[in-house]
Amino acid sequence: MRKYSITRKALRVYAAYNPKYFPMLFLQTVFNNLAPYFNLWMSAEIVTALYESKGKENIYRLVLITLIGNLLIRVIGAALSRSVNTQLEILNNNEAAAFNRKTLSLDYDKLENPDIRQHRRNITENGYINYYGVVHMRMNVGYILQEVISIAFALVLFVEMVSLIAAIGFRLISILLLVLLVASVTMSILSQSLHSKKVGEAWNEVGKLMLDENRLGRGYDLNGMDNRIYRQQFLMDKLFRENAKRHLETFTYANNKDVKYIIPVWLFRRLSELVSYLIICLYCVLGAFPVGGVIKYVGYLANLTNSIGSLFYYLQEMEVNEKFLQVYLDYFEIKNDMYQGSLAVEKRSDKKFDVEFRNVNFRYPGAEQYALKNINLNLKVGERLAVVGMNGSGKTTFIKLLCRLYDPTEGEIMMNDFNIRKYDYRQYLDIFSVVFQDYHLLAMPLGNNVAAAASWDTEKAERLLEEVGFGERYVEMPKKLETPLYKNFDEDGVNVSGGEAQKIALARALYKDAPFIILDEPTAALDPIAEAEIYARFDEIVGDKTAIYISHRLSSCRFCDKIAVFHEGEIVQVGTHEELLQDECGKYYELWNAQAQYYTT
Ligand code: ADP
Repeated sequence: MRKYSITRKALRVYAAYNPKYFPMLFLQTVFNNLAPYFNLWMSAEIVTALYESKGKENIYRLVLITLIGNLLIRVIGAALSRSVNTQLEILNNNEAAAFNRKTLSLDYDKLENPDIRQHRRNITENGYINYYGVVHMRMNVGYILQEVISIAFALVLFVEMVSLIAAIGFRLISILLLVLLVASVTMSILSQSLHSKKVGEAWNEVGKLMLDENRLGRGYDLNGMDNRIYRQQFLMDKLFRENAKRHLETFTYANNKDVKYIIPVWLFRRLSELVSYLIICLYCVLGAFPVGGVIKYVGYLANLTNSIGSLFYYLQEMEVNEKFLQVYLDYFEIKNDMYQGSLAVEKRSDKKFDVEFRNVNFRYPGAEQYALKNINLNLKVGERLAVVGMNGSGKTTFIKLLCRLYDPTEGEIMMNDFNIRKYDYRQYLDIFSVVFQDYHLLAMPLGNNVAAAASWDTEKAERLLEEVGFGERYVEMPKKLETPLYKNFDEDGVNVSGGEAQKIALARALYKDAPFIILDEPTAALDPIAEAEIYARFDEIVGDKTAIYISHRLSSCRFCDKIAVFHEGEIVQVGTHEELLQDECGKYYELWNAQAQYYTT
């Protein structure tokens, strides 16, 4: 059966997040279905006992059994419910972890790809608003399980009733009544399934529209200070309202379809119930079962029709949900296509890693312009290289290529005579410490941030914080390295300024103790005094590492052995500060003089 093939595939993936959940749910559902039948059955017994005047004691006994039975039902029900909730929590956690793991394992170019970002947003948004996707599937499976078990119980009682009717002998009248009964129930079920089908079709349309909507405006930054200053909330409010209006229109369309069928379906069901009631009463009169049986069988027949009707509805819902499940499954199918080498990066004690860019050209995926053109550069161990140039000249892109976040479009990057693609990627990344321009600290204790790990070496972390100029601030930290940063998860968290955060990011880079240290605009958020202090000690801080500084503040790069000047994606000059200044027609000279008015040498 090709139908529901997507659901079945998604269910296999989803159930594996916690294999205990669905069996527990099954157990709970069976139990929850038993409970109402117990009461129905006991009511029938009590009514029959009353009707047949079986004596007070007998009736008291039945009432007592009913009470004890209900107490047990409550206790066992509560225990099962607790267990199912626990398993569900585990399921949810594992599902979220798997989703995050997938995101974290994506090649960087995939992570930045706008289509893949939108894909991810679709999954979280649809899950968040209508629970469409795996959560919808889980709930639907629960409902369907409930209905199927309820139908199974009802069928058992149906067989019981037919056998009682058979016991009084199949006369024409009893056969005719049975046919009439089945026909009326079938009509009721058919009307409900038609209703579900029509409504399902309408929701399918809504579902298609919802796939591409940005209903929550998640793309907008709601916390931004700019919003307050420029009163952008009015602009955002307008966008939200427009989105909401579109959304409401599609919902109304589906709801109208729903309303159209509600009255006829209701009438059909009530009529069917009336017919069933009359027929069952007649069977009672014919002596098929005692008067209590009327209560029992009328009750279960109502359950049977309800359950079959609901089952159709949930199956329809499942179909609507399939397109959302497909989006979910597709996300996990995104393949990393970056070549993964296997060459081991030698753990050299001399940290001898020579890197060379050979005729490297690079274009971002989907971009028409080259961000880097014909880059040739050699970097020797222990050197200090400064990369300077105006905004957009390609400095950060150069670093992204060096760290293999992207591969060159043409040309190659060599390390110790091998193309960097040949190295084991994890080992290759281990040789770099980078403070990116848009680095992020975690809302976790300071120690975790410096060590980028679950535990840390206190002496080393404190020494590095001191070295990067965080010393005075560190003394004020109430719980030292245990102090949580930011208040996202902890009331006692400490908010750090941009400059302080940058120092912590620097300490993190040094803590990694990688042979290469790369600082992209490392001091942009520092005040001039802190910046001067750090630069004065940079040689000492960086030690024997190979260092690359990116900056558009030329004064901070003068101490480097080599300065590469980037302009419009090309390296236009390479040399020391003194050499470059000699060329009065060069870009460096132009930039230097443009900045000299702000920075005295
Ligand atoms: P710099 O670091 O010198 O300011 P970048 O390396 O960030 O410059 O950018 C170089 C060029 O590449 C710019 O034209 C920029 O618009 C473009 N660019 C940067 N990142 C991306 C990206 N993810 N996708 C497409 N183009 C990009």
